[in-house]
Amino acid sequence: MDIRFDPQDEAFRAEVKAFLDEKLTPDMREASKKTTTVFADKELAMRWQAILVEKGWAVPAWPVEHGGIQWTPNQKYIFGEELAKARAPGLIPLGLRMLAPVLFKYGTPEQKENYLPKILSGEHYWCQGYSEPGSGSDLSSLKTAAVKDGDDYIVNGTKIWTTHAQFADHIFCLVRTDGSGKPQAGITFLLIPMDTKGITVEPIITIAGDHEVNQVFFDDVRVSQENRVGPEHEGWTVAKYLLEFERGGGGSTPGLKVGLDELKTIAQRELDNGTKLWDDENFRNQVSELEILTSALEFSELVNLDKLSRGKSPGPSSSLSKNSSVDLQQRMATLKLEAIQHYALPHANFISLNGHNEEWPGEEYAETVTPRYINSRAASIFGGSAEVQKNIIAKAVLGL
Ligand SMILES: Cc1cc2nc3c(=O)[nH]c(=O)nc-3n(C[C@H](O)[C@H](O)[C@H](O)COP(=O)(O)OP(=O)(O)OC[C@H]3O[C@@H](n4cnc5c(N)ncnc54)[C@H](O)[C@@H]3O)c2cc1C
Repeated sequence: MDIRFDPQDEAFRAEVKAFLDEKLTPDMREASKKTTTVFADKELAMRWQAILVEKGWAVPAWPVEHGGIQWTPNQKYIFGEELAKARAPGLIPLGLRMLAPVLFKYGTPEQKENYLPKILSGEHYWCQGYSEPGSGSDLSSLKTAAVKDGDDYIVNGTKIWTTHAQFADHIFCLVRTDGSGKPQAGITFLLIPMDTKGITVEPIITIAGDHEVNQVFFDDVRVSQENRVGPEHEGWTVAKYLLEFERGGGGSTPGLKVGLDELKTIAQRELDNGTKLWDDENFRNQVSELEILTSALEFSELVNLDKLSRGKSPGPSSSLSKNSSVDLQQRMATLKLEAIQHYALPHANFISLNGHNEEWPGEEYAETVTPRYINSRAASIFGGSAEVQKNIIAKAVLGL
């Protein structure tokens, strides 16, 4: 793979920048800059998705016949880098980057025809029903049951930590259709409309004060067998394939590089005992280490982009990218928190929840640091915990 940028790449970069200058409005950039949750606000993300769809740039990784683009890995990389630099809102990956690749590989022609255009247009907003109380890392122990009844399944059970279930109109769900053999052997992958009778959603408020996750209850929920993806009892294979894209389907280094620039700005402005934090050699060394590790990750992500461009899936090494990227995000969030010193104590949610001072009292760059720090703790848990990724790396990558 050649990652040098040639004049055509630079012309493409100029085209992307011109598009962003025209279409990414200041209010969208500002709202995106203030986002402290894992996913952008739904309204913001969908507004941006519609703009990208109109341009034909929403899903470069999809096959061309479904609206994808034959960009080179370099072009995909440049696109990601310019989006991050311009503070474009992140698109919600659940349909676009997680379910869609599953449908390309395992969906029936009817499922592809029905669901893919609606994922792209934003008509369908998806959530992920994998985890259950007691079945997170040990996902194959899941108990939500689907029992056949004529042409349908009747689903009973509960899913937990379901991100954006409060907004979603569809859920892709792992259900147990057979409990007699190995746990992995009796799981089925179902697509369920959230307005089906018997589904209820209860909010879970996180330590950061955000409502991002939920518990979803299924009480005699009737689902057509046509909504099954892949063969019955073989949903585990489908589920694992989707997880490869959840963990390694996107590039995190453009965002990390923007975060590192922010960290340097803070350190060059904040004082520690009267001297700039940036003049502290120990602090600078920690930032340098993060920069070096970000560069290393960038090359892994470029290899991954190259794989995706050739129609391959990320494979189990996506667990390696996930762990490295999360480790860097969390270390950077911690350094930023240290850098803003006493402004780390209050944060926007705290202030408004307590009804005291609605105005942020410090520098603008400090406002989002604490909620982002708190939120970033979840990154080593969702999508499979860091320890579980290490187990996958040991077994499936290193063959131990
Ligand atoms: C913010 C957030 C959003 C989420 N969104 C979704 C979503 O949209 N849909 C969804 O289905 N799920 C979602 N999840 C759930 C997430 O996938 C699970 O929380 C995760 O898989 C861990 O499962 P658990 O919480 O049951 O913890 P447990 O599995 O109980 O793990 C507890 C601890 O034990 C460790 N551990 C467990 N097993 C092993 C092992 N074999 N070896 C070493 N260590 C081990 C874990 O690393 C962890 O530290 C989300 C979670 C969070 C925090």
